[in-house]
Amino acid sequence: MKGQLETIYHEGCEAVQKISDLKALEEIRVKILGRKGSLTALLHGLKDLPSEKRAAAGQMANEVKQQLSRLIEKRTVELKNFGWSSDMKQNIDSTLPGRPPEMGRLHILNCTLREIEDIFTAMGFAVVEGPEVETDYYNFESMNFPAEHPARDMHDTFFISDKILLRTHTSPVQMRLMEEQSPPIRAIMPGKTYRVDDDATHSAMFHQVEGLLVDREVSFAELKAVLALFIRRMFGEEAQLRFRPSFFPFTEPSAEVDMTCVKCAGRGCSLCKGTGWMEILGAGMVHPKVLRAGRIDPETYTGFAFGMGVERIAMLKYGIDNIRLFFENDLRFLEQF
Ligand SMILES: [Zn+2]
Repeated sequence: MKGQLETIYHEGCEAVQKISDLKALEEIRVKILGRKGSLTALLHGLKDLPSEKRAAAGQMANEVKQQLSRLIEKRTVELKNFGWSSDMKQNIDSTLPGRPPEMGRLHILNCTLREIEDIFTAMGFAVVEGPEVETDYYNFESMNFPAEHPARDMHDTFFISDKILLRTHTSPVQMRLMEEQSPPIRAIMPGKTYRVDDDATHSAMFHQVEGLLVDREVSFAELKAVLALFIRRMFGEEAQLRFRPSFFPFTEPSAEVDMTCVKCAGRGCSLCKGTGWMEILGAGMVHPKVLRAGRIDPETYTGFAFGMGVERIAMLKYGIDNIRLFFENDLRFLEQF
């Protein structure tokens, strides 16, 4: 009797562990514990044993019954939670390659900004940041936009109060830097800027990188050399630039800088409206009034400054025609870079 019980127990345990679908598990339960099951039959046979052996055998048989019941119950729960039904199992192709996990990546604007930073830091420029909520003084006044000056209309400004605003350009960081540091100063100032503006090439929030170099005898030629190198590094060795006279309150003389069209390389196409050139940034020699506001003597020092839009650089470099694509967070767009 003892041997039979042990066999039922061990065989039962083994069978239950091997089972991977509920139907087969139920079959095993019936085979052992059912009305005509092997253990049930054994329990019925207890009455035929001599009375002195009956109690011990009965106890053992009940223990085996309980343990197998518990085991089947546990396995039932496991299979219900994690198990595969037999038809699912037939449809699994274990030779298929696994699904790679989704990887995050840098946003195209971050990549572009890092590229710009890398190019300028390699030329010895430091990277400096400043506040996005600015005072009228730093954003306009100190940058040679006096109150009521018409040049202020070039910047459609988000005002928070009379004297507090969201910076319309990264130039105020120049002023903060000049106040803190005496020349030589060589830095770029990346960051978010804000203007009341919204169309295919303008967004209310956009990114600028400002550049400033102040030292003794800094010339316009050096400005041109730095920008020419930047454009070649960013867009390739063939990229050329040209300067067009322009006006900014904070630089004198000022220039708009164009580069050869990225699409037609200067031959003329619809993108550059047949000119072969595309506007890429603004630059100039720091206005003496701005130097003075930054507590730098314009008789001793000169400097140049430039400012570019990160979105614009990315649009030119990757042929993107709508600025909104950067901010819609559509993965089909973002994953291309
Ligand atoms: Zn072109």
